[in-house]
Amino acid sequence: MAKIFITRRLPEEGLELLKGHEIEIYEGDAPPSREEIIERVREKDALICLLTDKIDAEVMENGKNLKVIANYAVGIDNIDIAEATKRGIFVTNTPGVLTETVADLAWALMMAIARRIVEGDEFMRQKKFKGWAPMLLLGRDIYGKTLGVVGLGRIGKAFARRASGFSMKILYYSRKRDEEFEKETGANFVSLKELLEESDFVSLHLPLTKETYHIIGEKELKMMKKTAYLINTSRGKCIDEKALIKALREGWIEGAALDVYENEPEVSDEILSLKNVVLAPHIGSASHETRSGMAVMVAENVLSALNGKIPPQCLNPEAVKYRKI
Ligand code: NAP
Repeated sequence: MAKIFITRRLPEEGLELLKGHEIEIYEGDAPPSREEIIERVREKDALICLLTDKIDAEVMENGKNLKVIANYAVGIDNIDIAEATKRGIFVTNTPGVLTETVADLAWALMMAIARRIVEGDEFMRQKKFKGWAPMLLLGRDIYGKTLGVVGLGRIGKAFARRASGFSMKILYYSRKRDEEFEKETGANFVSLKELLEESDFVSLHLPLTKETYHIIGEKELKMMKKTAYLINTSRGKCIDEKALIKALREGWIEGAALDVYENEPEVSDEILSLKNVVLAPHIGSASHETRSGMAVMVAENVLSALNGKIPPQCLNPEAVKYRKI
């Protein structure tokens, strides 16, 4: 029987699979503190963690028996993978299972900001509606516009595919060109500069890395059209938030729709005070179906590692060389 620490209660479908092992679940409403993780990881064979948990050398040093760190997310910027590899610990994530759900949310945010849905909802609740009016809450069309996808991976592609029903022109910027995707959708591979200059909607689908940190800053925001919108469902730190606030205040762009924030869960009062933003509380993958699917995936990864195998969603199979079983 292995010992597993889970930093937050997950959907039952995943926990069910882990029955038979000794499971300890952190039951707080907020993420566990660093000290709590360090304390509870001692003598555990597996750690299931969230993107809000920073898992670094200090945590691993205290989790001397860890065989696997299974992230309940696809983004893995919270885990020091190189450190885990040196220690023979497998690191896994949950790719694919959440792709369409996150793409749906990005699309919903894009429509909400362009058509001022949230402002309209507030307007109704405040009983301000006096009847149809020619100039009431005018937004921008989505149909027929140019969509700029930054990071053409799983989610970026799923997001871009949704554009076909809206007769949009698709531009993309990514690390490499994807000619098959171009054939399928008519998308064009362009530089980041060209994408920013030409797009009516710019949506980020990048992982957070040293290269993508603040990839959108003052210079990039100034390249965008004054009528364009920025959508971010990737990671908050991909955008220089101070520059974004300035851009939204001074009208360099028309608006932004965000699911992620530079210092989340903190969101600056400046952002909260802006009318031309739509804000979501990092709910990209938050559907019943997807969160259950993610729970099953982390459980299967953990079970596989505990059985001495390389887990299906392993990000560092080379860790097998350093395992101390
Ligand atoms: P993915 O398939 O790895 O896609 C990322 C894409 O970005 C890849 O095409 C990658 O290129 C490209 N890329 C990486 N670094 C780049 C750079 N420096 N410049 C240009 N392109 C670069 O990942 P995914 O499954 O689509 O997920 C993307 C991200 O979404 C995750 O990392 C996570 O941070 C975020 N996410 C957010 C939520 C949410 O709740 N809001 C949920 C899930 C995921 P290569 O193919 O060359 O690597």
